[in-house]
Amino acid sequence: MNSIIGRAYKNGRVSLVKILLICILVVSIVYLVYMTGGTKKVYVHLLYIPIILTSLFWGAYVGLLSGVICGILIGPFMPLDVSNGTMQDSINWISRLLIFSLIGFITGYMIDRINKLNMERQERDLKSPFYNLPNAQQLLHDIEDRINSRENFKLFSIKLTNLSEIEKYVDNKLVFDIVNNLAKRLMHCCGRKAIYSYEKDELIVLACENCMEDYEYKIKKVLDYYFAFPISMNGYKIRVSLKVGVYVYQGQESSPIEIYNKARIAYEQGEAKESGVYYYDFNLESKRREIHNITGALLESIENNELFVVYQPKIDIVNNKISGVEALVRWNRNGNEPIGPNTFIPIAEEIGFLNKISKFVIDNATSHMKMWNSKGMNVKCSINASVNELLDDNYTSWAKDIIANKSLKQSDFEIEITERAIASNDKRLFEKMNLLKEYGYQISVDDFGTGYNSLKSISQIPFDKLKIDKYFIDRINQTVIEELVKHFIEYAHTFGKIVIAEGVETEDQLNILKRLNCDEVQGYYFSKPLLPEELEEFYKKFK
Ligand code: C2E
Ligand code: MG
Ligand code: MG
Repeated sequence: MNSIIGRAYKNGRVSLVKILLICILVVSIVYLVYMTGGTKKVYVHLLYIPIILTSLFWGAYVGLLSGVICGILIGPFMPLDVSNGTMQDSINWISRLLIFSLIGFITGYMIDRINKLNMERQERDLKSPFYNLPNAQQLLHDIEDRINSRENFKLFSIKLTNLSEIEKYVDNKLVFDIVNNLAKRLMHCCGRKAIYSYEKDELIVLACENCMEDYEYKIKKVLDYYFAFPISMNGYKIRVSLKVGVYVYQGQESSPIEIYNKARIAYEQGEAKESGVYYYDFNLESKRREIHNITGALLESIENNELFVVYQPKIDIVNNKISGVEALVRWNRNGNEPIGPNTFIPIAEEIGFLNKISKFVIDNATSHMKMWNSKGMNVKCSINASVNELLDDNYTSWAKDIIANKSLKQSDFEIEITERAIASNDKRLFEKMNLLKEYGYQISVDDFGTGYNSLKSISQIPFDKLKIDKYFIDRINQTVIEELVKHFIEYAHTFGKIVIAEGVETEDQLNILKRLNCDEVQGYYFSKPLLPEELEEFYKKFK
């Protein structure tokens, strides 16, 4: 409000200055004409200046009026020659008045046209190319206005996540109908001026300080309509998937584009196509930034010698001996905090770099095994693998070759594949697992109990060992969980499989597992993952 009054006050002052300037100019020129002897001198033409300026400031009609006034001021009352008092012919001053008026009008008209064209272009620039709504440029401009007038506000970024699929597979015109429909509903409850279109599948609502809560309630109601029911449109019945990101601005130091990005970051939470309303979370932003940071550094991690492999012993608790080790990769980022494999392995898989990491791990593990063999230590080693790797013929034949080249046996290697991966029930994967077993590898199902695969399909999966996930071992003192673990072990034993418990940290857990006839354990109770030389020490001590 204050800013509007301020602007009006400023505009008023500017207009007053303009009026004064024109008046002074006109009076001075008329005086000059009189003092220099009358209209016979050339100075009369100086009056074009205030006439053109008037048209420039106020347009065609005021220009015309100023032409008439100037024409009259040096018209019937102004002598042709002041020294002898000769007055002008009527035809003379009337023609001049007409010319002045025409100049004022035509100049004003041209300026009006130019201004109108400019405004139309500006309006076009601020309109969305897809919908009859203001666009991103207008949004950023309005956000800046709010920041400058120190107002708090909320920004809702509404993304229709499955629109590109509807466009491709159903009907491309339908997309415009859906967004227009949604925009109309939002306009109805938040007003026309609050809605912007950023991209084809994204609408933005800018809610002012006083209406933030009210808008939020109304937006959620409109969206509920879209989340919950299929939409009937143009003969189709479709479900629109919507994600809403909300950012609350409360005077933070940010530029308009940063503010808009924060609303976008907010809706990127949750599963890719899951509908819902998400609020901006600073941690999420830093996590995303960190992921981008990691991605670049990960590609150089092998060349920079930042990766290394550690080995965690697995203990056979029936015969009380080391049954093998699990190779686990580590990343020591130069000058940065170490990052766990749970963070960087999924990123590596996404960017197609896991293959290189796995080769690095196998290369290291085989070299270390050869060294341990030469020292009389017979250690079996398990390696974690992803589904894509197992399905890749190059990877499996490479692994086979490197084992043969280092004079090691396939049977000394175990491949761990998570139960979640197996849950996809991919026939090709089962075929590949069978083939690997034929080659002589042992196969174990990692993180068992977390993949919802359950005992039902155990008999169909080609594997040798079942690794019960740490989740169950952490809770094994609860009767229900103990019963469940007992059930896992008994069931696996009926199929002749070996059971190993992951993440055993206490003696109590170990005793329960012994009582339940578990075959092997792995966990901090016996040892954390160790460097190769530390493992040698452990091996000697354990013996
Ligand atoms: P995983 O295969 O289930 O490995 C067991 C994880 O549990 C390891 O974490 C290990 O350090 C941890 N662990 C073992 N005993 C205990 C315990 O008593 N307490 C606690 N708190 N943790 C214990 P790590 O090394 O962080 O590895 C995490 C996951 O990353 C692994 O889970 C595996 O899925 C993956 N991973 C690790 N190295 C590789 C690799 O070379 N290739 C692939 N594809 N995945 C790998
Ligand atoms: Mg594992
Ligand atoms: Mg595991």
